[in-house]
Amino acid sequence: ALSVPDKKVESLCPYCGVGCQLTYNVKDNKILYVEGRDGPANHGRLCVKGRYGFDYAHHPQRLTVPLIRRADAPKSGDMAMDPTRVMEFFREASWEEALDLAGSKFAHIRDTYGKRMLAGFGSAKGSNEEAYLFQKLVRTGFGNNNVDHCTRLCHASSVVALLEGIGSGAVSNPVMDVTKAEVIVIIGANPTVNHPVAATWIKNAVANGSKLVVMDPRRSELARISHRFLQFKPDTDVAMLNAMMHVIVHENLVDKEFIESRTIGYEDLKKNVEGYSPELMAPICGIDAETLRYTARLYATSKASIILWGMGVSQHVHGTDNARCLIALALMTGQIGRDGTGLHPLRGQNNVQGASDAGLIPMMFPDYQHVTDPKVQAKFEKAWNVPADSLDKSPGLTVVEVMHAIKKGEVRGMYVMGENPAMSDPDANHARDALASLDILVVQDIFLTETAYLADVILPATAFPEKDGTFTNTDRLVQMGRKALDAPGQAKPDLWIIQQLGQRLGLDWQYTHVSQVFDEMRRTMNSIGGITWERLEREHAVTYPCTKEGDPGQPVVFTETFPRESGRAKFVPADIIPAAERPDLDYPMVLITGRQLEHWHTGSMTRRALVLDALEPDPVALVHPLDLAAMGGQPGDIITIESRRGKVGLYARADESSPRGAVFVPFCYYEAAINRLTNAALDPFAKIPEFKYCAIKVTLG
Ligand code: SF4
Repeated sequence: ALSVPDKKVESLCPYCGVGCQLTYNVKDNKILYVEGRDGPANHGRLCVKGRYGFDYAHHPQRLTVPLIRRADAPKSGDMAMDPTRVMEFFREASWEEALDLAGSKFAHIRDTYGKRMLAGFGSAKGSNEEAYLFQKLVRTGFGNNNVDHCTRLCHASSVVALLEGIGSGAVSNPVMDVTKAEVIVIIGANPTVNHPVAATWIKNAVANGSKLVVMDPRRSELARISHRFLQFKPDTDVAMLNAMMHVIVHENLVDKEFIESRTIGYEDLKKNVEGYSPELMAPICGIDAETLRYTARLYATSKASIILWGMGVSQHVHGTDNARCLIALALMTGQIGRDGTGLHPLRGQNNVQGASDAGLIPMMFPDYQHVTDPKVQAKFEKAWNVPADSLDKSPGLTVVEVMHAIKKGEVRGMYVMGENPAMSDPDANHARDALASLDILVVQDIFLTETAYLADVILPATAFPEKDGTFTNTDRLVQMGRKALDAPGQAKPDLWIIQQLGQRLGLDWQYTHVSQVFDEMRRTMNSIGGITWERLEREHAVTYPCTKEGDPGQPVVFTETFPRESGRAKFVPADIIPAAERPDLDYPMVLITGRQLEHWHTGSMTRRALVLDALEPDPVALVHPLDLAAMGGQPGDIITIESRRGKVGLYARADESSPRGAVFVPFCYYEAAINRLTNAALDPFAKIPEFKYCAIKVTLG
C-alpha cells in the first residue's frame, strides 16, 4: 500500500548555499519524500540532492550513543577506516561519563598548559545558533580565538578581498539577479554541479536573452549555452583579468563618475594594469587577445553585468588576488550597487555564510567585528557577562595552521563539531597524523567520520531534519529550518551538547530554547538586529542587512555607499603569483579537486543516501581522453594518482571538459581520499589552501 505522510514540515535543504526551501513528508518518524516549496531562492525547484538526499538521516550507521576510545585501542594517522571494527576501538558510555571526560580533559589542558593549547572547528552544516554558541564556547570556555570552520577551505580569500575592497564579505546581489542582468560572468564555478538550482535561473536568463560568459579551465555544462567560453589555463586568472582591465582603461570604458564619487585607489590600479596588455597576456592565460578585448568591452558596456564565482577563483595561493581583480572590474565599470549587477561568491555549504557571520572564524567576533579592537572586546565581554579584559586579544589559528600547531606541540586538545578535516584538509596525511597525536580529540557528529575514527570521545548529534534553527544562504537570506524527526537512540541536539560542555568548562549557560540563542545573536549583530524569531517563523526567510524591526531587508546593497570608513570602495591591484607547486619531469600533470553533483563534500551524508550513492558509487578521476589514451588506458581502468605527499587509486573516466594535462577528482571518496595528495600551501592573506593546483603523476593500474 502507498504510504501517506502523517506530517508535513516546512524546512530547508541541508546541502548547498542556494538555500532551497522544501517540505519533509513524514510518517512514523521517517521521511517518505521531499517536495520543493516556493522559497525566494528556489520557487519550488530542487536538485537531485535536495530531492533524493534525505535518507542519510535514517541510515543504520548513525551514531546513537556516546563512545569513548578504549585505552588499548591503536590510534595513528595512517589507519584505514573500517566502520565494521568500531567497537574494537570504542566502548559505549553514558552522556554524563563522555561529557565529564571531555570537559575535564579540556579544563586540565587549559589550566595546566595554557588557554591557547585548545582549538575548535565548528561547522557550516550547523545552524547559526550552533555556530554562535560554539565560537562563544571557544572564546569564553577555552579562552582563545582558535575557532574556525570550512569557510577557510572555500571562500576565505573572497571574504578577505571583499572586506578589504568594499567593506562587506557577503554578496552584493542575490543569485536571482541573473534574470535582470544583460551580461552574466561565471568564473571558476560550476553551478550545474555545485549550485544546481542557481544554474537553472542562469539557464532561464540566457533563454530570455542575457549573454553568458563562462571563464574556467574546465568546460562546464553552462559553457555549452554561453555566449563566450574562455577556457583559460589553470592558475592564470590574474593575467586574464588584468588584461581585461587593461582594455577597459585603454579604450576608456571606465565609469568615470562612479570611480570619482565612490572609490579610492584607481590611479594605482590603472598604473598596475598598464603592463598587462592582452597581447602580452594571451600566451600566458591561453585566451587570444581579441577575445580578451571583446569580453572586456561586453562586460564594461552592458547596462547590467553580474559576476558569480566559486572555488576555482578562491582556492589558490593567489585566491585573494583573484578576487581583488573581480572586485576591481566591477568598481571601474560601475557594475555594482544596482539590480542585475554586482559580485556574488557562490557559497558552498548551506550555512557557510551564516556560520561566518556568527563568528566561527579566528580573527573576528560575530558580524565581522575584529577581535583586536578594544571597543569590540569590551562590547562582547559585557554581552557575554565575562570579566573585563578577559577575552583573548589575538586572532586565533586557522584550519591548516591548527594542524601545524598540533605537530609543534602548541595545541593539545580539539573539539570538532560536524567537520571532517581528516578528509577535507589539504595534505590530509599530515592532518590525520596531527589529529591522532592530540592529548584529546572530541568529535560531535552523526556518523563515524574519518575524523571521528581518530577521536577519544565521540558525541552523537542530531541530523539536519531533527532540530530547529536558522540558516543563511548565499544571498544573505536568513531562513528557518524546522524539526521533522526525533533523533535516533541517545543522539542529542548540538546546542544541548555545546551547552553541556560549556557548563563543564565553568560557563553558567542556561539556554532552554534555540530562540534564546538567536535573540542573543541579534543583540550583538547589527546586521540581523531587525529579524525576530517570530518574524522568521511567520515569513520563513528575511534578507539581511535588516537592522530594525519592520525593515524589509536589503537583497541589493551598496546602492549609495560602501560600508567602509570613508564610504568608498577601494581598488587593490594584483600581480601574477604562480602556484606553489608547478608540474615538472617527475610530476608532470596538474590535479584539480572539487565536487560532483550527486555527492556532498566529504561524502559522509550523500554516500549514505541510497539514490545518490547508486548514481555515483565509486571513486573516479576525470581525465582527458587523449591523456588516457597516451598512457594506454581506457575509460573504467584503474589508475594511480601520486603527488609528493601521497597516492590513491581510482577509476578513470574519460572527460573532454578537463584540459589536457589536468585531472579532476572529487574529494568525497574515503577509499581514495584525494586530499592525501593536495598541497597545504596557503594564500598569505586568507590562509586558504591551494586545492585547485598541485603537481601529480598518473599511471595505469
Ligand atoms: Fe539543495 Fe542546493 Fe540542490 Fe537546492 S540546489 S536542492 S539547496 S543542493
